[in-house]
Amino acid sequence: MSLFGRKKSPAAQTKKSNIPDGLWIKCKGCNDTLYTKKLDENGKVCPKCGFHYPLRAFERIDITVDKGTFEEINAGLRSIDSLDFFDSKKYEHRIKQAEEKTKMKEAVITGTAQIEKIKIALGVMDFSFMGGSMGSVVGEKITRLIEFAADEDLPVVIFSTSGGARMQESTLSLMQMAKTSAALARLSEKGLFYISVLADPTTGGTTASFASLGDIIIAEPGALIGFAGPRVIKQTIQQELPSGFQRSEFLLEHGLIDIIVKREDLRKTIASILKFAVK
Ligand SMILES: [Zn+2]
Repeated sequence: MSLFGRKKSPAAQTKKSNIPDGLWIKCKGCNDTLYTKKLDENGKVCPKCGFHYPLRAFERIDITVDKGTFEEINAGLRSIDSLDFFDSKKYEHRIKQAEEKTKMKEAVITGTAQIEKIKIALGVMDFSFMGGSMGSVVGEKITRLIEFAADEDLPVVIFSTSGGARMQESTLSLMQMAKTSAALARLSEKGLFYISVLADPTTGGTTASFASLGDIIIAEPGALIGFAGPRVIKQTIQQELPSGFQRSEFLLEHGLIDIIVKREDLRKTIASILKFAVK
């Protein structure tokens, strides 16, 4: 059955069965049918309406830095289940599942790279790994990256996308907010520059720490950025929320971010900011 319960013609049914799953998707922005190959070629941005789809960390690195310049650091750090936590599954089991699904060890990749020949310390989060949640290892990798940058006199660029602190690590994950923020304070004391780029969605403890502490805060168009989600806020304050609440455009208007940059212009924009800011 298709839209409004109309039966499809036999021709349409045959056509559908010839298309492998995942070759076409319905755009979340404009509802149009998109050929996924075209979407991939366009940096996962809808060519029709400009809706920005999530990028995996390795895809982000690929379109952002000079070819072949990325060198990963602290690649081997892996979370342990120090609280022996379980909800419907054991946390240890969730970590293993996330590793298998994403082929990553954690929700962030860190390292050094060059953008238009300027060397940077780079951190890129990946929402596919447990919703980009910040546990001890994400916090530790971000902190070590910032400390490395402070030692090596490098500017820092971090792409965030996160559901917030990792609940399976309880207070240990909340402590990462203070740890990453303190490392950034030391970076700032050294006069080194930090660009924070926010992709859809960036929420919770990540927003409440390093993602909001950039010298320049860039957001992709239409990204959900906030601490608590709109539903929770609406229930708490018992009021209707303004339209576009917590989206990049609303936050730019209210001064929480500095600039909205389309994905296709990000590399160029980051390079120009670095050229201006880095001596
Ligand atoms: Zn679209």
